[in-house]
Amino acid sequence: MNDQQMDLKISGYSTALFSTWFFIEELSLLFDAGDGIMANLLQKSRKIKHVFISHADRDHITGLLQFNQLNANEGRPNYYYPKDSGSFLALKNFMDKFDPHVSSGTWIPLNGHSEIEIKNQIFVEAFINDHIKVQDKQCKSLSYVVHHRKSKLKEAFKDLSNDEIKKIALDKGKSFISEEHSKKILAYSGDCPIGNQEKWDGTQILIHEATFLNMDNIVENNAHKHSLLEDVIKMAAEIKIETLVLSHFSVRYKKEEIDAAIRKYCKAYKLKIPVHRILPGQFAKNILTASPINA
Ligand SMILES: [Zn+2]
Repeated sequence: MNDQQMDLKISGYSTALFSTWFFIEELSLLFDAGDGIMANLLQKSRKIKHVFISHADRDHITGLLQFNQLNANEGRPNYYYPKDSGSFLALKNFMDKFDPHVSSGTWIPLNGHSEIEIKNQIFVEAFINDHIKVQDKQCKSLSYVVHHRKSKLKEAFKDLSNDEIKKIALDKGKSFISEEHSKKILAYSGDCPIGNQEKWDGTQILIHEATFLNMDNIVENNAHKHSLLEDVIKMAAEIKIETLVLSHFSVRYKKEEIDAAIRKYCKAYKLKIPVHRILPGQFAKNILTASPINA
């Protein structure tokens, strides 16, 4: 453990076609906003200040209506969305009319190079994934990486007094005496096939979708691309991450099938880090405190 390790409480729901959302309490952050946010989080939902939505498929946005009605106040929270999806402004306009007595928060379009500071030292980076086929580099589906960036005093200045340090910083600038340390603390794939290894590499916790266990099931869902469990586990074994949370399984699979497949592929690809999963149809409260499936 280094001093940038951050203990995160992650709760959520994620079932392909039906609903997906993840609440990260320490970061006041919600990834995606499918049904059931309010029914499960109740008044805890008031902690959410930033909602990052991956794409406009209905199972990722329909929880916003009640979330906003009970929680929006004076331009808060912030809703971030892929800029070329028309659904979000349509939804905002509807919400403004449907609940004219509440503000509908602040809606912020993101492109594939956006980076947002959500609290001191914590930045959320957005990048475009391959879930939705687009033309002309349109931005309709995003993945997210959360960075913890800290500026640290360089070794050479460690023994100086505060006054001496201040004086040097004034004379030569802050970057002369300090350097930036950056750590990826969390990443969220949204819906997408694998293929962003370099973005996930070095992340403490990766939440990745794994919609399908079998190749055969993928063919029938060609329109929007998803991941195969085996590919995700193979990829996780090839990069450096500390914890993997698998999500967005199809309801066609039973708990026993999912867990057996996770154990099989972890063994086959020698993935030793803790692997958790969110089962179809189940709300997972504080998922990282459960025993890993591959333990
Ligand atoms: Zn989905």
